[in-house]
Amino acid sequence: MKKLQIAKRIQSLGTEQAFHVLARAKEMERKGIDMIHMEIGDTNFNTPEIIKNACIKALKENKTHYLPSQGLLELREEIAKHISKTRKITIKPEEVVVVPGGKPMIFYSIMATVNPGDEVIVPNPGFPTYESVVNFVGAKSISLPILAENNFQVDLKQLAKFITKKTRLIVVNSPHNPTGGILTRQNLIGIANLAKKHNLWVLSDEVYDRLIFEGKFESIASFPKMKERTIVLNAFTKTYSMSGWRLGYGVMPADLAKIVANLINNSISCTPNFIQWAGIAGLRDPEKTIAKMRNELKKRRDFLAREIKKLPGVNCHVPQGAIYLFPDIRGTGKTSKEIFDLLFNKAHIATLPGTSFGKYGEGFIRLSFGATPIPRIRESIRRIKSIWPPS
Ligand code: PMP
Repeated sequence: MKKLQIAKRIQSLGTEQAFHVLARAKEMERKGIDMIHMEIGDTNFNTPEIIKNACIKALKENKTHYLPSQGLLELREEIAKHISKTRKITIKPEEVVVVPGGKPMIFYSIMATVNPGDEVIVPNPGFPTYESVVNFVGAKSISLPILAENNFQVDLKQLAKFITKKTRLIVVNSPHNPTGGILTRQNLIGIANLAKKHNLWVLSDEVYDRLIFEGKFESIASFPKMKERTIVLNAFTKTYSMSGWRLGYGVMPADLAKIVANLINNSISCTPNFIQWAGIAGLRDPEKTIAKMRNELKKRRDFLAREIKKLPGVNCHVPQGAIYLFPDIRGTGKTSKEIFDLLFNKAHIATLPGTSFGKYGEGFIRLSFGATPIPRIRESIRRIKSIWPPS
């Protein structure tokens, strides 16, 4: 049979490596090998009972049919209330769109705002889906280095130089994947001023907003005249340990929200009904469930960072937020990929090379501590020590 055509645009689509490494690690496990999972950005906590019960209740009440594409009004009201309170801006339900997870919002917002030939500034290292979708729509992604040397802040002078007449959108992610860095208020104000000066959209990925160990969360949408140009992206994934549920949302100007809702209409129709009712329960849940999870994550972070820092040739910032350690392995003389391979094949620890997040991730590896309890972290350190220094 003659080969059937695959559309050209598929060639420009990237991928999130974490899912491939997870599949490889699972394959090793099927062969009986005990793998330690530090690759995927998940947590190992159970979804709070209050959320599960709300979902069961909704199912029993037969909340099992289509909903408006933009999302259940009751959930959009709850999200609007939550964002208004935490970001100190006024958000109405018509400025909220509900989607199945954080990733779809990346896809839809870039589809809705970026033309072929436009330029989009994305953090590098950064969550790979940004660049992938930018390329997919025929635009050019401009890598903005987020470097350890600069305490994982945006170099504002460099950002100013990267902005051209073709720039349409800047992606901001704080707390940041993979570095765990948090952009300072001053840094966010600098980015906001440039966005206003050059009339740019900002996609603010805030999925780790409640997973902060030191400092305070600030949204770029909170600064004067930013609300009208910012798409706030958030998800229930990390905050409520709901990665498999698929629930997220975007907050944006109402006219853009309508356009995104039409993209949903054309692709998935709507986010599942009973899942949205569960989301309401999550947002109404008092802070203490999240605080408990955050305390445990902080213990893991402290332990892992302390032990990793002791390894010869390794430097490590202690991440202020998110669920990742991003050690600098340049002192070993090895590449990210070499260290990744060594850890995977010899120590049976699944991690990610920094280069999975872009070229400025070279010299680093990402260790997720979201799904690894302390005894398993201790075991991972024992295994690393047995193969260190890498030869
Ligand atoms: N943004 C960032 C920065 C992330 O790290 C992730 C998940 N790792 C997402 C978005 C996507 O989240 P979801 O699983 O809800 O699609």
